Amino acid sequence: MPLLVQKYGGTSVADADRIRAVADHVARTRRTGADVVVVVSAMGKTTDDLVHLAFEVSRTQPTREVDMLLSAGERISMSLVCMALADLGVEATSYTGSQAGIVTDAAHTRAKILDIRADRLRDTLAGGGVPVVAGFQGMSLERNVTTLGRGGSDTTAVALAAALGADACEIYTDVSGVFSADPRIVPEARKLNRVSYEEMLEIAASGGRVVALRSAEFARNHSVPLHVRSSFTWEPGTWIVEEDAQMEAALVTAVTHDVSEAKVTVAGVPDRPGLAARLFRALSDHDVNVDMIVQNASLHGTTDISFTVPGDDLEVGADVCRGLLPELGASSVSTDASVARVSLVGAGMKTHPGVTALTFETLARCGINIEMISTSSIRISCMVRSEAVEVAVRALHEAFDLG
Ligand code: ADP
Ligand code: ASP
Ligand code: MG
Repeated sequence: MPLLVQKYGGTSVADADRIRAVADHVARTRRTGADVVVVVSAMGKTTDDLVHLAFEVSRTQPTREVDMLLSAGERISMSLVCMALADLGVEATSYTGSQAGIVTDAAHTRAKILDIRADRLRDTLAGGGVPVVAGFQGMSLERNVTTLGRGGSDTTAVALAAALGADACEIYTDVSGVFSADPRIVPEARKLNRVSYEEMLEIAASGGRVVALRSAEFARNHSVPLHVRSSFTWEPGTWIVEEDAQMEAALVTAVTHDVSEAKVTVAGVPDRPGLAARLFRALSDHDVNVDMIVQNASLHGTTDISFTVPGDDLEVGADVCRGLLPELGASSVSTDASVARVSLVGAGMKTHPGVTALTFETLARCGINIEMISTSSIRISCMVRSEAVEVAVRALHEAFDLG
């Protein structure tokens, strides 16, 4: 019997009607003869609401307690989905992350999965039942509840699909697949039928949050076929699979954007070996994820180093830099949260020059200044002012004829 993992995001279980629709779809899938494991997110904006509540109550927010709080959201949806399934005569059992055997490290609010001990899920499946698992959460070796970072239910689903040897992992969401750009910003964006793991990774890493980055990594590393599709229309969506000969390597597959990054500049850094190493080691020791880095040529023996970090890491990152000023002999630290990144992703870039030139020409035509640039073999990213990013996405989508 085929085994499917079906993950339902927040909008897919946002209210009672949506939960009944999900249960109906699970029951239909069971009737086709497939075994199903369900993974659910918290209802609607529940996680955001809990995050705000924590800010209202506390300045310190011990991360163990944050995880305890946030994990409550997914518990609500899993039990309601099981109740709705019971009404349809489908035997279903809910499991928290820890009950599902999802073992993580102890990094609260951004835990990584270490192991999956899925015997209880296997037992439920063997008994003909449907396990319904709370996404986004696990348990550390010290037996504390942990969460996997925002969007982490995708990771739960893909990790379970890998552990259980599922035939596919279906990610149900509020759009009908992965598009050539965020359809909320570019209404004429095109749904992609097939995307390679490598492209999906770059799309997720550069802001296309339709699939969380960690889950895209997990899917590639364990060759889990992903099917991103709509829980509103149930039409076939986008398959994320190994790159193959049938897949024409499009020059550009998607334009993505990310407004959650921020920029830090350390000015007047003496131009000596070892100083950049010292700076970025300290940032890494504080778990600050650095993305783009720009260092100017030194004019009078000093240079400015700018880099980007996730907005959530801005304060810590800037504090680390300020603390190092005397040791580095640098003059100042400044921050800028009003930046955004626009990126082009496409496997065809590997072999085609000219993408960079057309990208820069397009942004220039819109009067958009490029503050930083970074590339990989299948991606080009430009940092621009955040108020210009939507114009940039639309212009690039049109320039590369992606509609
Ligand atoms: P869920 O709650 O189901 O996990 P998310 O909000 O995390 O849903 O992800 C779905 C959203 O991702 C869509 O509503 C869409 O606005 C956004 N998105 C961004 N980039 C893309 C893209 N390239 N293709 C499809 N959706 C995208
Ligand atoms: N509920 C969590 C969040 O909003 C996890 C998820 O939905 O994937 O980030
Ligand atoms: Mg999501």
